[in-house]
Amino acid sequence: MVRKLVDGMSDWFGQFPLTTFENNTCIFVPNMANTCVFDTKEGLVIFDVPLRQSGQKTFNNVRTITRKPVKYIIYSHGHFDHAFGYGPFIKEIREEGWDMPEVIAHENCVRRFEKYEILGKYHDWINKQQFASVTGRRQDPVVSAHETLEPTIVLKGNESSYSFKLGDVNFEIYHDIGETDDSVWLWVPEKKTICTGDLMVSSFPNIGNPFKVQRYPKDWAIAMEKMREKNAEYLVPGHGRLIEGAEKVRDVLSITGEVMHFVHDEVVKRLNEGKWFEEIYYEMLEIYPEKFKKYKILRGIYGCYRFAIHATYRLYHGWYDSGNPTNLFPAKTDDVAREFLKISSEEKYLEHAKKLYSEGKKQLALHVLDIIVKGTDEKNGGTLVEALELKAKILKEKAKNETSFIAGNIINNAAHQIKERLKELKKN
Ligand SMILES: [Zn+2]
Repeated sequence: MVRKLVDGMSDWFGQFPLTTFENNTCIFVPNMANTCVFDTKEGLVIFDVPLRQSGQKTFNNVRTITRKPVKYIIYSHGHFDHAFGYGPFIKEIREEGWDMPEVIAHENCVRRFEKYEILGKYHDWINKQQFASVTGRRQDPVVSAHETLEPTIVLKGNESSYSFKLGDVNFEIYHDIGETDDSVWLWVPEKKTICTGDLMVSSFPNIGNPFKVQRYPKDWAIAMEKMREKNAEYLVPGHGRLIEGAEKVRDVLSITGEVMHFVHDEVVKRLNEGKWFEEIYYEMLEIYPEKFKKYKILRGIYGCYRFAIHATYRLYHGWYDSGNPTNLFPAKTDDVAREFLKISSEEKYLEHAKKLYSEGKKQLALHVLDIIVKGTDEKNGGTLVEALELKAKILKEKAKNETSFIAGNIINNAAHQIKERLKELKKN
């Protein structure tokens, strides 16, 4: 079942109308990720092309405003929702016999496309999980790694930038890492506009995403500060509505930078105090400042603060994160659960899980239920079915109350899988 989108998430998925600004010379096309088109005397500069499946819609939208040829396409980064919807634009260029556009990206974007080649199936799988509530469980793969439009101008190294001029408008592109290591952002001084890609979205920054590779909190904060220096009046985020007004733009950049500094510095402080992940995580939950909570832009509706703690820890720490050598080379969890079930019966564990649930201790109830779920022979069907039913029920309740779209989908998918397993068990 498709999960209802909270207000901020419908913004995140671009469910609002196209807008233009600066006398129709800037076209802001919302979609699952946003596209911004700059209409100059000599042609168009496009910042980000959306999801492949949304390319036609974005193209049609742009062509209701301007007929000029596309001269440049800039990828904020190589994620599937920012760099794959180029098809209709390129088809038009071929049909019209125009020159092919320059395509600008960072060198790590090229590496990303190579990574997609070797990890295509894995990425299909994680995307299905992350977006299950909006796309359903049997959607086509969102991306084919073989269908990339290769960059022709490649920014290299950490400190890189690139500028060009088209029809009296200057375009300045800067590389900063944050959500990804291949991100670039665009400053257009004549239009007082910044395009951030996913360095700014209508949610707490997507850092520490449970499915994704390492992301960079400190560098993210620095990118926000560099953007703020431009004194932009318009900010085109990777996802969500256009942010207008110099003060509002400065405000969202400042607070996002501040929260990234905060989570980074507080985790680092605790690492230096010799603390392990669990202690750091629960302490960090206690100290999250009130001032961040009142900002709409920091609502944890996609990424969230809890994920950001993981991201910072992982940036500096290896995988041995408990400080307990039992966990260094642990036994199989099924075997551990079976040993617990030799001490006390499935029925006792189930009874205790129910008690915890009735007391509102849902997370603890899940841990106790897992002893049964992991350790019970399927022959002991009755108790297992009951344990799975309670687990699915708790997961459904947790998913309903979960603010993060990503976390909600993970929990909801697991509940769905349990229900499928229950159907099989009941058949036998
Ligand atoms: Zn995105």
